[in-house]
Amino acid sequence: MSRSAAVCFHHVIKKYGDLSALKGITFDVEEGAFFGLLGPNGAGKSTLINAMSGLVIPTSGRIEIQGFDVQKDYRQTRRLLGLVPQELIADPFFSIRELLDLQSGYFGLTGVKQKAWVGELLERLALSDKSDANTGQLSGGMKRRVLIAMALVHRPKVLVLDEPTAGVDVDLRRTLWDFTKELHQQGHTIILTTHYLEEAEALCDKVAIMQQGEVKALDSTQALLSKHLYRYLRVTLGGAVNHLIAPLQERLVEKDLNGLVFKLEKTASLTQLLAWLHESQLEVVDVSSRDASLEEVFLDLTAEGSADAK
Ligand code: ADP
Repeated sequence: MSRSAAVCFHHVIKKYGDLSALKGITFDVEEGAFFGLLGPNGAGKSTLINAMSGLVIPTSGRIEIQGFDVQKDYRQTRRLLGLVPQELIADPFFSIRELLDLQSGYFGLTGVKQKAWVGELLERLALSDKSDANTGQLSGGMKRRVLIAMALVHRPKVLVLDEPTAGVDVDLRRTLWDFTKELHQQGHTIILTTHYLEEAEALCDKVAIMQQGEVKALDSTQALLSKHLYRYLRVTLGGAVNHLIAPLQERLVEKDLNGLVFKLEKTASLTQLLAWLHESQLEVVDVSSRDASLEEVFLDLTAEGSADAK
């Protein structure tokens, strides 16, 4: 049975003058997904996210959140969505608690239950100690956590995180990963943009790779990895490399003290590779093979895209 969609993009186009930031984006994010929106700078990720939250008005097309139209049913969709932007824009003299209370008030949420929820958020995001501190005095990492708390005050079903771990230290990255995983397990749909491909590989069950306003690939992370046409072979050598014959040279991607790494078509035979190594008079000690990482798949896909654009 197919799961229902948390977010549907229907042929979303956004033009800025002559520039098409989004060229007709159509896809669904299933309810309960942990979805990664990836792409190089300028691909259109922020425009798409901002269109979801009503901050950018598409030139044409429409976006639905749990069946509600972002334009027509703005109130409903605003309640269903929590957006964690990259920067905290707030009066630096407000304390964290005041900010969260204000945000609750914006949604008309007051009372004991809401106070308890805000307290829980502060606790969970390790902000309780600082809840009375002015936001202007907080470290970058703390500000990031405040942004997450603000996005969660109204318990949105869909949480959108824009580069949540950009510029944060390893510890905080871990904490944020664990926290978002927990939210996902509790049933939230998570949409995340990230530059860290290993982050997407570790967290996301589905990813869309965007480039120049288009979706280049959209699949489960596993399928993207397994459908990829290449694998990587590390050849450990017993001696120095004096000469590599052309087919090996073409496929060489890395060379270090212990040996060489080749990028090989999955259909290519290992016997052939060994024959080429033999022809190059190399002493092979060991050969190990691995599938491409999401970063390598991403680089291949986006390199094809920029070649198409030329
Ligand atoms: P990403 O988030 O993937 O880096 P963006 O959505 O920020 O990409 O940008 C997509 C394209 O739209 C870029 O070429 C960018 O310069 C352009 N763009 C984004 N916002 C505006 C704007 N307000 N005015 C004009 N061009 C914009």
